[in-house]
Order: sequence, then structure tokens, then C-alpha cells
Amino acid sequence: MNHAVVVEAARAVPGTWVQAAAYASLASAESAARRVPLAERIPAYEPAGSFEAYAASTGSGPFLWVRSTEGGPYPALPARMSVRIPAMTGAAPGEVGVLTVSVRPFCQVCGGPRGWDVVGPVEMHVRNVLVTVDRWSNPCGHDDVYADVLEESRRTPAAVDPAISRGRGHRPGDPARAGVFRPAVELVLQAAAEHRAMHAKQAAALLRINGHVEAAGLVEVKIRAERGHLSAKAAAHFLTVEGAARRSTSTTRQESNA
Ligand SMILES: [Zn+2]
Repeated sequence: MNHAVVVEAARAVPGTWVQAAAYASLASAESAARRVPLAERIPAYEPAGSFEAYAASTGSGPFLWVRSTEGGPYPALPARMSVRIPAMTGAAPGEVGVLTVSVRPFCQVCGGPRGWDVVGPVEMHVRNVLVTVDRWSNPCGHDDVYADVLEESRRTPAAVDPAISRGRGHRPGDPARAGVFRPAVELVLQAAAEHRAMHAKQAAALLRINGHVEAAGLVEVKIRAERGHLSAKAAAHFLTVEGAARRSTSTTRQESNA
């Protein structure tokens, strides 16, 4: 691989990610990604700090991508991107309408950044039902296919990190106080943190396909009570209050949807 040529190309477009090299293993690509910003044992990237790098695994192997930091700082790539996709090919029986899934922000063909910053809503018909899903175009020109995005999200699930939601939003949900709904609240908060405008309807669908049937039903009742005006974060707060209330009483609480 000729890093001098890559450096020249990247310097010509500061802030833009450029494919640098293919690697035989993800470990070696990740090693290079750590060394590029330090210009450690790859002198083409000197002086240290003038380049950023990441490694991405794709269907055709791992790739190293780099960008010049000149004129920056430039927006950091997110760890994941959360998108709404139609439940079609690859969806399990019972999964209908819209699924909210999370994937890494890298093209699965070339490893380039996906269009994580240009995700926008689009309406489409799924089994004769009009639904709103997300669409984005990737700067590299390779288009993502919904069925492949669904498969990828299941093959590379995000690690649940409740801390991701801390300090964000008004009256946030709190998994630690949510009692029996703790896993449900964690799931909703994580998805909501990755998808800022997430509605409670998506939260209910996400809960249902992940087996949190009771929590999904409660959120759906709450959505109707609020006449549709309920965000996913508000749903997480609602479930926290419901879970905390159940924990503090010894008698069986009357279901709000009974
Ligand atoms: Zn691509």
C-alpha cells in the first residue's frame, strides 16, 4: 500500500474521509488506525495530529480510512446510527410496519462513512400500509438496502449502555428505578439517544419486537391517552414511574389498560 499517495489525496480534501488501504485482518487495520494519528511507524502521516483514522470491516474485508484534520476540527463519526426501516424481507413473523434498528455508520461495501448526518424521513407502503421510515444516501455512492441493514443490525448488536442517556432531556427515564421495566427502559433510552426525534410509537414497536410485550402495551395505552403526543423519552419516563410504583406496593396493581 502506498500511504504517500493516500496522504496527498487526503490533504487535497481536508475533513473528508478517504479510503487508505485494505487489510488482511481487522486487528491489523485497527492497529494502523491507532498509529496514523500519531504518525507512529507510518511516517507519511507526519506531523502527528494531522490525520485521523478508523478501521471498518466490510463484506470484502477490513479497510483503513483516514482524513486530514487541517482546518478542523470536523464532526466526529457517531459510534452507531439508529434508523427506522420497513419490516419486510428478513423480518420475523409478527414484525410488521416499522422497525427501529441500529448499525455502525460504515458502508458495508467500501467501509466509507454512511450518510449518518443526512438521515431523513420518507413515506412508503408496506403491505398496503403507509408508514414513515428513514432514508439516507452514502457519500461513497453505495446504496444501503433495508434487508441488509436489518441483517447487519442483528449480526452486530449495540452493547446496552444506560449511561448514554444520562444528563439528556427533561425528566429522563431511569433504568435503575424502573423495577420490572428496567430492560425495557434501557432499550428505549438507548434507541432514543441515537435517534433524537424518536416517537413513542417507535418505542412501543421496538419493545414489542424485543419481547417486552407488557411494556409495549402500556406505552400504546399512554400514547392514546396523550392523543399521540408522546416522545420515546417520555415513554421511558412513563415506564420508569410505572415500574417504580409496582416496586413500592405489595398488592397487585390494577393495569391501566385493564
Ligand atoms: Zn461505500
